[in-house]
Amino acid sequence: MSEREQIPMDVVFVGAGPANLAAALHLKGEIKKHDEMVEKGFKSGKVIGDLEIAIVEKGPFVGAHILSGGVMDPIAIRELMPDFLAQGCPVDSVVTEDAFWYLTEKGGINAPLVPPPLKNKGKYIVSLSKVCEWLGEKCEAAGINIFPEFPAAEVLYNENDAVIGVRTGDKGIDKDGHRKPNFEPGVDLLAKVTVLGEGSRGSLAKQVTARLGLDEGKEPQVFSIGVKELWEVPAANFAEGKVVHTLGFPSDTRTYGGGWIYGMKDNVVSIGYVTGLDYEDPMIDPHAEFQKFKTNPKVAEVLKGGKMIKYGAKTINAGGYFTMPKLYADGVLIVGDSGSFLNGQRIKGIHTAMKSGMLAAETIVGAFEHQDFSSKTLKHYDEKVNLSWIYDELHPVRNFHAAFQKGRWSALLNTGLQFLTRGLAWGFMPKEHHIAGHERMGKLIDNGNWKIENGKRYADLKFDKELTFDKVTDVFHAGVAHDEDQPSHLHVLDTEICATRCAEEYGNPCQRFCPAAVYEMEENVESGRKELKVNFSNCVHCKTCDVADPYQIINWVTPEGGGGPNYKGM
Ligand code: SF4
Repeated sequence: MSEREQIPMDVVFVGAGPANLAAALHLKGEIKKHDEMVEKGFKSGKVIGDLEIAIVEKGPFVGAHILSGGVMDPIAIRELMPDFLAQGCPVDSVVTEDAFWYLTEKGGINAPLVPPPLKNKGKYIVSLSKVCEWLGEKCEAAGINIFPEFPAAEVLYNENDAVIGVRTGDKGIDKDGHRKPNFEPGVDLLAKVTVLGEGSRGSLAKQVTARLGLDEGKEPQVFSIGVKELWEVPAANFAEGKVVHTLGFPSDTRTYGGGWIYGMKDNVVSIGYVTGLDYEDPMIDPHAEFQKFKTNPKVAEVLKGGKMIKYGAKTINAGGYFTMPKLYADGVLIVGDSGSFLNGQRIKGIHTAMKSGMLAAETIVGAFEHQDFSSKTLKHYDEKVNLSWIYDELHPVRNFHAAFQKGRWSALLNTGLQFLTRGLAWGFMPKEHHIAGHERMGKLIDNGNWKIENGKRYADLKFDKELTFDKVTDVFHAGVAHDEDQPSHLHVLDTEICATRCAEEYGNPCQRFCPAAVYEMEENVESGRKELKVNFSNCVHCKTCDVADPYQIINWVTPEGGGGPNYKGM
């Protein structure tokens, strides 16, 4: 007999990000609208009534694990709540100026024209963490149950493989797997519809996709990682409302990468760098790429005399339309970054995430109206996505990221052609189209058709703790906390590979691609060889290791609830 409590709900949302918060709020509003129309006789059908709706969130509060650049296109929040500003949505600044810098090692130029997809004038610079915290308050005021510190650890299925809810993680297990005095088993939250909005590389979305084959016939997902710091800088350094995007230094022409600098209020700047996790050189370190980016004289000038105040990192689904999984199955819908709704060309995904959640909500209303929670009804979500502005926005840029797998110059040419032809022209695409990032990583012993720099890439990079920071210092500024007396949530399925094949073939790239110094190869005095040490308590939940490991033997699972970074205000 299971000792777990079973809590029946109607709809369970996994993850309190922009997609699910918008979805839950919209669901409440749409049910109310539906019921009023039926009661007044303006619509046929049945009254749905009050639904039990829950949002489970692994962080200690809504917004704790939310990280974005972040410029928000308000198109979706305006549809959700036309008076969002009057209702107190905490936007930081309005974008007043766009710039595009092409950087070299010693300087850079201010491009005379900003590429149209990177024009953001009139949009909002936000702390997405704050916006989500505020949306969470709106949800609670609308009667939606929010459970922070409840990591959804497993998907529950019935005998026909329909999703029937989620199991949350146990609390109070020690590092050896034994129960501590504060042990509490997770609960089974049963739902007619479960909505997965866990962000990029959601751990339950990964489970469901593998079990139900939701990626069959789709291109492999391609990820990037964004590494970000918040800085307080002297007022004259950078104007509030200014948005800069950069190309060039420090990325080489074979590696997808670019930076951003956004001017927020109170002399704070959001600065960050995106590196494609489909790089070829195994010596690349995305955190070091970001630190190098800051040493460019044009960028360093912005930060001169300033102080770094916060740090974070997160993967981004960059693959676009062709890499979207099937978005529905019996009892389940996938929204937001978990469903690959990000527009890679604009590097924007908050608006598409929110809209996907709202379309999921409208689909759920139909499912309750007809009391059918199978694919037959839930497939309407897919139809709604393809009839909405999401399709109009994502379909023309469907080849954007794949073009970069051929290198920067052919990609830029392609981007121009795609812009003119709404995505039809893609003559410079790699023949195989998208290739999964981990499959593109070159081996140290095999220089392939380009030269791997074998460790020289960061020879000049010093961490002076004024402009540039090592990973441990940065992680301190991410406010990360995990109880150390718990099992590691980073499951390395075969550590023998790390000590042997991976060391020889790739030089253990986990030590570099992790932006939080979680993985170390440490000398074992008995065996005399280097073996893997996992400092899981540093983990900022970016999921890079889960996607970038060339052997795909790292599985990120949810740690005990409440653990992880604290991105409040990021
Ligand atoms: Fe990111 Fe994995 Fe490192 Fe955690 S361990 S910070 S998920 S790369």
